[in-house]
Amino acid sequence: MILKNKKWSCLLPFLSLGLLLFPSSTFAAKPITQLESQPVPARPKNIIIMIGDGMGPAYTTAYRYYQDNPDTENIEHTVFDRLLVGMSSTHPTKSEGIVTDSAAAATALSSGIKTYNGAIGINKHKQAVRSIMQLAKQQGMSTGIAVTSQVNHATPAAFLSHNESRRNYDEIALSYLHTDTDVILGGGQQYFSSELIEQFKNKGYQYITDVSELNSLKQAKVLGLFADKELPWAINEKKAHKLSRETQTALTLLSNNPKGFVLLVEGSLIDWAGHSNDIVSAMGEMNEFANAVEVAEQFVRQHPETLLVITADHNTGGLSIGANDVYAWNSALIRGVQSSPDNIAIAALESHDWQDIVSKQLGFKLNEAEINQLAAAKKENQDIFTDEINKIISRRSHTGWTSHGHTGVDVQVFATGPSSALFHGHQDNTDIANNMISLLPTNQNNPNP
Ligand SMILES: [Zn+2]
Repeated sequence: MILKNKKWSCLLPFLSLGLLLFPSSTFAAKPITQLESQPVPARPKNIIIMIGDGMGPAYTTAYRYYQDNPDTENIEHTVFDRLLVGMSSTHPTKSEGIVTDSAAAATALSSGIKTYNGAIGINKHKQAVRSIMQLAKQQGMSTGIAVTSQVNHATPAAFLSHNESRRNYDEIALSYLHTDTDVILGGGQQYFSSELIEQFKNKGYQYITDVSELNSLKQAKVLGLFADKELPWAINEKKAHKLSRETQTALTLLSNNPKGFVLLVEGSLIDWAGHSNDIVSAMGEMNEFANAVEVAEQFVRQHPETLLVITADHNTGGLSIGANDVYAWNSALIRGVQSSPDNIAIAALESHDWQDIVSKQLGFKLNEAEINQLAAAKKENQDIFTDEINKIISRRSHTGWTSHGHTGVDVQVFATGPSSALFHGHQDNTDIANNMISLLPTNQNNPNP
């Protein structure tokens, strides 16, 4: 689905070096300390799976250059570089071809079963398959999800629900009532009626709608919906670190259970930016996800009985670093753009000085061809205007895109903690699920024979 009309938030100007002044470590990382010398058990008590939606290999590479400190000779490593262990194929069930959607990929990652695109937690015969979340619950563990999309979007849905179509958002939201999930954090208020919220409360859920309320939670269960649909672009809220705060709270609440937990964290909007071929928002979402990964990495250091596995469900947009025969990629230009292109379009279309506003927000002066390009788009509509801004940024920064959809390249796998060696080398996305499921306390065999 191509993202359009992303909600306007604000156009607060920020320093182009803001991300360098507030690197991904500001929220998450404390110094690596004595904890690393603690003995590591062979099997994990807790499992954290993190999915960068659409985060193909070019995204983590681009992010490394994007967050690099230009004042040092070295290219600084990212948390992804630190944790890289393997690669994974992502194709859906064979009759569907090679390129997956998020629903089929998340079903594979949650249950170890290949299915058709659009399927939520069911196989190609439309039978429900057991997910790692259900299996964990059966064994008395706690479960949770923390995402930046609506909580009933394809990826979290395939971990918690069963439905023949990812588009049945209301049915999926309703089904969450019966999953006993301890922590549900993300967006999606529009899919949860006041009656449904009452039903959650009757089941013992605390309902919160502001990220600041996360701090006051003492225990599960919690349903936290922080936006009508998806959360605002991270690039427009640079210090909010909402996914990190969701992740930190989820880890704190879930670790109250002595039997352990399974937590899914998704950087959902990397994919949405990829669909729009929007490199500025994509890098903002990568930074948001990297922050959350650092929170999880720190948790593993402090709780060595925890396995952390990170991957992507597929690649989005066919992103490339360098394009159109030019041997270059201008990360500084991308860092210099002051807000998401859809926000720039909204501000420009509301103003008589649109050229000035666009130039200021982009951080460079438009040339005559670009002014003509945008003037023509301005006569059409906001979406077309946004697309043209994205094209200008991509052209100037030598960012390449091959598609507004998904592509079938393998994605990376990152892991640390007990049994993380299971995820080394090449694997399929179903292997990732089956390996995680095999590590649940009393579930040594494939639960979906
Ligand atoms: Zn997608």
